[in-house]
Amino acid sequence: MKKTTGQDRSITRNWRAATQAVRGGTWRSEHGETSEALYLTSGYTYDDAATVAARFAGEQDGMTYSRLQNPTVAMLEERIALMEGAEACRAQASGMAAMTAALLCQLSAGDHVVAGKAAFGSCRWLVDSLLPRFGIEATVIDGTVNAEWEAAIRPNTRVFFYETPANPTLELVDMTHVNGLARAHGITTVVDNAFCSPVIQRPMDFGADVVAYSATKFMDGQGRVLAGAVCGSAQFINDKLLPFHRNTGPNLAPFNAWVVLKGLETLELRLRQQSANALAVGRFLEGRVPRIMHPGLESHPAFALAQKQMSLPGAIFSFELDTREQAWALLDALELIDISNNIGDTRSLMCHPATTTHHNMGPEGRAAMGVTDGMLRLNVGLEDPLDLIEDLDRALAAAGL
Ligand SMILES: *Cc1c(COP(=O)(O)O)cnc(C)c1O
Repeated sequence: MKKTTGQDRSITRNWRAATQAVRGGTWRSEHGETSEALYLTSGYTYDDAATVAARFAGEQDGMTYSRLQNPTVAMLEERIALMEGAEACRAQASGMAAMTAALLCQLSAGDHVVAGKAAFGSCRWLVDSLLPRFGIEATVIDGTVNAEWEAAIRPNTRVFFYETPANPTLELVDMTHVNGLARAHGITTVVDNAFCSPVIQRPMDFGADVVAYSATKFMDGQGRVLAGAVCGSAQFINDKLLPFHRNTGPNLAPFNAWVVLKGLETLELRLRQQSANALAVGRFLEGRVPRIMHPGLESHPAFALAQKQMSLPGAIFSFELDTREQAWALLDALELIDISNNIGDTRSLMCHPATTTHHNMGPEGRAAMGVTDGMLRLNVGLEDPLDLIEDLDRALAAAGL
């Protein structure tokens, strides 16, 4: 097999983002296939005993077992690393597999983690429920307040973990400040970048150490497969993540990796259009609903920070009606936009976080995070925005607004 680019990564490094998205990591077999091949194999065979021994000894490059390496998965890992501007990347079975691996691979009993309180429900479960069971303490703070990060640091703090924009409140963390603070204290930052993807925001450009993904979201982007990825320095991936990953096995299946490779080819196009559509829909809603949290609208409390950190406003935003009854009435009256808790899809999807993604947190947990009973989260897809606005206009009227 040969890389179309040869083995010299300095060539691919110089390509611009759009080129990386279609070409980065491509690794062609002797057949010279144009599209990346799908290697559905768990194992590999060897010409002789010395070859397999050399591979196991780490003296020769090559595959030995698909929990350790797979060509299709390796192409995806290389492409994501190039798009992210990271030295290395390791694909994972899902976004939550990625978050779990990114944290557990580097933490031990007695360590301390500081996490932003506004986060995906399962990310909060890791911090609030899983880590303490293994003797890893966590302090949850308001990630939008820079001083709270500093105040939470202890001598044993090892990791800062946050997402920006956060799900579903769309609150932003000031990455330059928080990542810089972490660096100064020898703390590793782990950023969940699911809402943006490297097209909109590259946390490492703002000093992050580790970027973790649900590739289920925009990277696949068409609602097909679960996937995840962890990006970092070669040292972090080789010394921390790989031993954990290879021995615990949260592997991404080659087929799912192949689907995400296809998704990456159109990631930038989709995000440009979906961001434009989301801005049009957001501007319509701004005049109609009591409150909207949209990083592309000047009413967002961190609009200036969004302009600095995000190259596009993104496809996801939230808005609030006064009551749960109104929110449900709006959902039930939708004809085009689907009721779905997924995001990152080319279809417009809406959900009521308080009774779905953030149900398990309980009323106090939701109140502390700012997830109100009237909140709705909208993922804007590739439909004509005028059709989406008409659907919302009619559904808002049906909900009495
Ligand atoms: C969806 C999501 C996850 C989890 O990803 P899965 O692929 O569903 O496991 C983690 N963080 C954020 C911000 C998400 O939106």
